[in-house]
Amino acid sequence: MTALKTWKLWIGGKSVPAASGRTYDAINPADGKAIARVAEGGAADIDAAVRAAAEAAVGPWSRLTPRARGKILLRLSTLIRENLDELAFLETRNAGKTLSDSRDEMGLAADVFEYYAGAANKQFGETIPVGPSGVGFTLREPVGVCGLIVPWNFPLVIATWKLGPALACGNTVVLKPSQETPLTALRLAELAAEAGLPEGVLNVVPGPGSGCGSALVEHPLVRKISFTGSTKTGTWIAKAAADTMKRVSLELGGKSPNIVFDDADLDLCVEKSVWSVFGNAGQDCCARSRALVHRKVYDKFVERFVARTKKIVVGPPEKKGSQIGPLISLHQRERVCRYIDIGETEGAELLCGGKLPGGALAKGFYLTPAVFAGAGANMKITREEIFGPVVAIMPFKDEDEAITLANDSPYGLSGSLWTRDVGRVLRVSRAVQTGVLSVNSSSSVHLEAPFGGYKSSGVGRELGLKALDLYTEIKSVFVSGV
Ligand code: NAD
Repeated sequence: MTALKTWKLWIGGKSVPAASGRTYDAINPADGKAIARVAEGGAADIDAAVRAAAEAAVGPWSRLTPRARGKILLRLSTLIRENLDELAFLETRNAGKTLSDSRDEMGLAADVFEYYAGAANKQFGETIPVGPSGVGFTLREPVGVCGLIVPWNFPLVIATWKLGPALACGNTVVLKPSQETPLTALRLAELAAEAGLPEGVLNVVPGPGSGCGSALVEHPLVRKISFTGSTKTGTWIAKAAADTMKRVSLELGGKSPNIVFDDADLDLCVEKSVWSVFGNAGQDCCARSRALVHRKVYDKFVERFVARTKKIVVGPPEKKGSQIGPLISLHQRERVCRYIDIGETEGAELLCGGKLPGGALAKGFYLTPAVFAGAGANMKITREEIFGPVVAIMPFKDEDEAITLANDSPYGLSGSLWTRDVGRVLRVSRAVQTGVLSVNSSSSVHLEAPFGGYKSSGVGRELGLKALDLYTEIKSVFVSGV
């Protein structure tokens, strides 16, 4: 048996063990086996990383021109592409996503750095007419040390959504990946050093939420927290960060509606709708986990949706042809299975899925995609984020009811709308309370466009040029003419 590689923390441009000396196993969700040992960061490591980042914030990095910063990010983008196979394989083994999904995500990670490389020297201030003599103008300045905390469902991609704009704006960062999925973030740190990022500008400290993540949120030298994860953790972070008046942006949970009108192109709609909830094994904050379907096409939609779902290939993520891999952990699968039991107890009809595959898949954390029909608006399966391959389908009678049902949720992240009526597209798009909405499409993420949530789905907008606002302070200067 070959010894497992140990991945250390990345602090001040070096690979270092945890101050406590502790390590833990990174697990492959496809078979439950350890694939690596990882240094487990704690409060002392966060302190070292924050201090390295604070020092780097006033070091050579602060004296680079925006164009030079952009060139480093562009080199990093190229290095991601050159190492795409290795990164995709790491992500697949650690997060259980299919190799083709991982390859797409690594491509997107490269695209994100390319985009923000270009944005680095295109952040403009304003000149402001404040009086007859003199001039007012604004400067955009880096916020300082940013703490970036990310989840396990899109481990590297979500990290890049924060790293790209944070670094383009001249900040320094401490990235805390999810304890479950730290490997691609640690490899990225090595590539960033190869790309020429000065020591201490990017630090990576994997570890538990409580003790490691919390230490980052509470650290007095951190000026900004950007968090993606559950609404429960995000709520704690918003309160804890207030003590040191940090800037906070939050990308949180969702329970997104998929609204199907009777004039929709049903073939296209069913094909896309299936993937909009079951892609990444349903572990997607934008998952369209509530399908709201007009009564006239309800039966037809349900029948076709179930037939299509049954054809999905659940299998080993490294195997060609697999379309859905395992869930991230045994704990997560148990949680999802509890919701399936609850759905049945509540009286929704389980039409397919919700089973643990046997045979060669028995050791992994697999679950077949589950379709509930006849779901009621007040059931737990329609109100709570399950974060697994489960959809609740319910009928509506008209446009008003569709809007009411869509908005009857504590969340407001994403959603889809299927209709060929342009007037309805405009009316419903305005009425639905979500930060992102796609019409006759299931895609939520376009790196050039802002992304984020209404209500309990978060605060702030990532991606696009809007993300630069999250990582800059605006200084207003008045120069007197007399
Ligand atoms: P989580 O909230 O449990 O953890 C997210 C991250 O926060 C992890 O790195 C974790 O270690 C850390 N953390 C946990 N407790 C902390 C604390 N007290 N202080 C600081 N950090 C802490 O979420 P998860 O289970 O990893 O991810 C699933 C959730 O993420 C879902 O709710 C999903 O909807 C959400 N999510 C949202 C988006 C979005 O863009 N809106 C994207 C992906 C996932």
